[in-house]
Amino acid sequence: MKYYDKLIFELSKEGRCGFSLDGKASEGYLESIIPQALARGSKPRLPEVSEVDVVRHYTNLSQMNFGVDTGFYPLGSCTMKYNPKINEEVASMSGFAALHPLQDEESVQGALEVYWKMEKMLSAITGMSAFTLNPCAGAHGELTGLMIMRRYHLLRGDMKRTKVIVPDSAHGTNPASAAVCGLDVVVVKSKENGLVDVEDLKPLLNDEIAGIMMTNPNTLGLFESEIGEIADLVHACGGLLYYDGANMNPLLGVVRPGDMGFDIMHLNLHKTFSTPHGGGGPGSGPVGVATRLEKCLPGPRVIQAEDGKFHIEHIWEESAGRVSSFMGNFGIILRAYAYILSLGKEHILNAGKFATLSANYIKESLKDCYKLPIERICKHEFVFDGLINDGARPASVAEDGTPVEAVAGATTLDVAKRLLDYGFHAPTIYFPLLFHQTIMIEPTETESKETIDAFIDVMRKIAAEAAENPQLLKGAPHNTPIGRPDETQAARHPILKYWDC
Ligand SMILES: *Cc1c(COP(=O)(O)O)cnc(C)c1O
Repeated sequence: MKYYDKLIFELSKEGRCGFSLDGKASEGYLESIIPQALARGSKPRLPEVSEVDVVRHYTNLSQMNFGVDTGFYPLGSCTMKYNPKINEEVASMSGFAALHPLQDEESVQGALEVYWKMEKMLSAITGMSAFTLNPCAGAHGELTGLMIMRRYHLLRGDMKRTKVIVPDSAHGTNPASAAVCGLDVVVVKSKENGLVDVEDLKPLLNDEIAGIMMTNPNTLGLFESEIGEIADLVHACGGLLYYDGANMNPLLGVVRPGDMGFDIMHLNLHKTFSTPHGGGGPGSGPVGVATRLEKCLPGPRVIQAEDGKFHIEHIWEESAGRVSSFMGNFGIILRAYAYILSLGKEHILNAGKFATLSANYIKESLKDCYKLPIERICKHEFVFDGLINDGARPASVAEDGTPVEAVAGATTLDVAKRLLDYGFHAPTIYFPLLFHQTIMIEPTETESKETIDAFIDVMRKIAAEAAENPQLLKGAPHNTPIGRPDETQAARHPILKYWDC
């Protein structure tokens, strides 16, 4: 461990001070300006460190992390594309960054115009008739979309529709959002080829179905080619089609969910439209709807009056309600706006095409080392089902009669951990749940062929290591600050403070 990897409390030295209050930090000064009633009785137990200690501590801490700015990040279903820095510049322009949400409309016309134009651009990209930019995450968009679905059925007096169909390959947020919205989940199975089984779907359709939630391409990266038939079947039973657009990247400019027959959808601006994500920070999950559902959108919305001025319209009678404070994460909307404008209509098409090309290139280059469960052209991502040769050996007896111990094979977890040693972020693992050793790789369009080739080389090297010496992988990672934390305990009983007080 390096000296400055220490916790900041361990660097503390009693009496050391890292600040100066303009020469006023003399004994008794703070006491003289803080009213007695508000002053604390004892000193807080804070680390006593100098400014340089603080700077080094946090700079080192930041370097223990991994991000798109530090390396290739092929995390499936997450679209960890590079986020151009111009997006950050636009979002930090003082005219935007210093806005207050309670300013009067007259003084924020520019921001409202961006908001309004963003809705129009997203509608054009997706083939929906209108959008709300209020939801603050993909899952929040799902909940909002389902609230719109419910509202639509209730407004028609159709009280029976309380069930939502979700494929078994769905992202976990889909059934969770349905449950939070008070809807019951009915699972439709996938076929051997990874696509929704239309024959399994048919008997599930009746007058209790509010709709179906689908992502296309699905979480296996496969395009649901029977979507036209599925849309007709669901509509014929009175249900609506919800599109989980977190996986929209490969379809950008190529196919529109509106044209596939979807009635409601969300986008993840913090995936497809190049906004930093992954640390659980602010996101944006705009929801688009077909014309007949527009009145059910949540408020507030931005509308343009005949004189060209922009206004905020609050809640109206048919609306599904309010889903966020104010109008969503405007900073994220600005980043996506800058991204869309800088690519333009023509180049946005390339984003999806190159993401698809990269994924297929990796899949074909590695399928002799990793099990490919579904042999088909993929879109932006694909899954392997573990190593072909994991190095496992049964117990046996050598020629000279000495017993040879059994060796456990390397698993997908071991491969993922070993990748960290080579400086790559691991792919998504053990999701979707359709296979036992899933490795889900999504390279995105922002990586050069050289980077992708380097990743392929490392994946092949790891496969060779596994065949030879699975133990090497089981001990990985060997050179990261933290090895294999207990993920369950870390989530359930996080230790968030230094002092036990
Ligand atoms: C990421 C993702 C979501 C959820 O998005 P969040 O912003 O993390 O809530 C939903 N569906 C799919 C397919 C996703 O990949």
